[in-house]
Order: sequence, then C-alpha cells, then structure tokens
Amino acid sequence: MNNNSRANENGMSENGPEDCMKLLSKVLDNEANDDLKDQFLEHIKICMPCYQRYHLDMAIKQLLKTKCGNKKAPADLIQSIRTQTSPPPAQ
Ligand SMILES: [Zn+2]
Repeated sequence: MNNNSRANENGMSENGPEDCMKLLSKVLDNEANDDLKDQFLEHIKICMPCYQRYHLDMAIKQLLKTKCGNKKAPADLIQSIRTQTSPPPAQ
C-alpha cells in the first residue's frame, strides 16, 4: 500500500478551487478578456467541476435567451434552474 494520493499536479497548483470559480464567473459574466478565456478553456479540459459548471451555465443562458427574448432573467430563476440541474457540490 504505497499509493501516493497527491496526484493533482498538472501545473495548476497556484489555482485553487476558489480561483477556478472566480475565473469561471468572469468568463460567464463576459468580464474576461480573450487571454483569460483561452486560459479558462484550457483549464476546463482538466477541471471537471469547472467544465460542468461552464456548460451548465451556457445551457441555462441559452435557454433563458430563447424563453425570455432579450429581457434579463431574474436571478432567482437562474438559481432555481441551477439547483434543479446540478448535483450538490462535493465537499
Ligand atoms: Zn477549475
């Protein structure tokens, strides 16, 4: 039994989960520049939570666009869709 459980060294060591989420929300809010977006798109190739969250949010935005036209969707509607479609975060 000599398994080393510290296998997550993909060169992203300075980016903790919190940085992930910050980056993710910037991209989703269109606050990220192209550089940051590229960085993020690279990142989601190796980060499953970000990947899922990103695609989930994109799907939601797409859905809301279709449903609500150009009107801004209320935040609690988005929140309720999110809670319905995403599994509880693994702590
Ligand atoms: Zn991530």
